[in-house]
Amino acid sequence: MSEQNLLRGISENGGVVFYGVDSTAIVREMERLHKTSAVTTAALGRLLTAAAMMGAMLKGSRDNVTLQVNGGGPAGRLLAVADGSGHVKGYVQHPVVELPPRADGHLDVGAAVGRDGTLDVIRDLGLREPYIGQVPLVSGEIAEDVTRYFAISEQTPTVCALGVLVNPDLSVQCAGGFIVQLLPGATEEEITQLEKNIAAMPSVTALLAQGKGVRDMLELALAGFQPDVLDTAPAVYRCDCSEERVRRMLRSLGRKEVERLRDEDPQAEVDCQFCDKVYRLDLNELLADWPAGAAEPTA
Ligand SMILES: [Zn+2]
Repeated sequence: MSEQNLLRGISENGGVVFYGVDSTAIVREMERLHKTSAVTTAALGRLLTAAAMMGAMLKGSRDNVTLQVNGGGPAGRLLAVADGSGHVKGYVQHPVVELPPRADGHLDVGAAVGRDGTLDVIRDLGLREPYIGQVPLVSGEIAEDVTRYFAISEQTPTVCALGVLVNPDLSVQCAGGFIVQLLPGATEEEITQLEKNIAAMPSVTALLAQGKGVRDMLELALAGFQPDVLDTAPAVYRCDCSEERVRRMLRSLGRKEVERLRDEDPQAEVDCQFCDKVYRLDLNELLADWPAGAAEPTA
């Protein structure tokens, strides 16, 4: 049985919604695959943690949400994708970035990510066009940027806390986060109470390091609101790439382009940016069973 590390909860009066995740195993798997340095483990780890919770907001299990951060920092582009079934995967353009810690001793995620750019949230709900929301980055620290996204793009007052604790040997000690959202109609008293609760909470990583979990986060964040657990689910790092997907991707380039690639080298190597799996395809074979009447991309 998989660990129920993702939790959705709600206040008794239905006005406050809570999402929490212990993403330790997810971030560990990401670090194993991408061999990230400490600060990029924290940066992409936070983004994956937020994505896991935003996946839980989707209605359909096959819907997915992509968080993309382009901040102009040395880490380059960061990407995290989650679906409605608890599967998360991510990618960072430059996995190894070395920066001195901040004055408070924390990893300088904001400097690695950069602040000069945007957070894009792309929600693919199986419709013809995905929903795309974009906000300028606040700090590149991810949690503040996600908070701002919800405030501006979805007009939902939100508190977002994300944490990744990296050991000196670069292994991941723990990671997790929570998102609290106020539904329309919240009173001033409720807002004040929530602010008090959250200000009094230890950091997410301090809670996890003490052996606490997502239920404890719910109880602390929504203290006084008689919160209920709506559901729990396992969230895991999983890439859904396959040889068929790679074939489809190559076909989408169009026959002419594949012929050009074939003339350069008939043995194509495509590696998945999310899991580093390498696919080797014979382009002559791909061209031989090219579907009749396949649409060519328009320039
Ligand atoms: Zn993959």
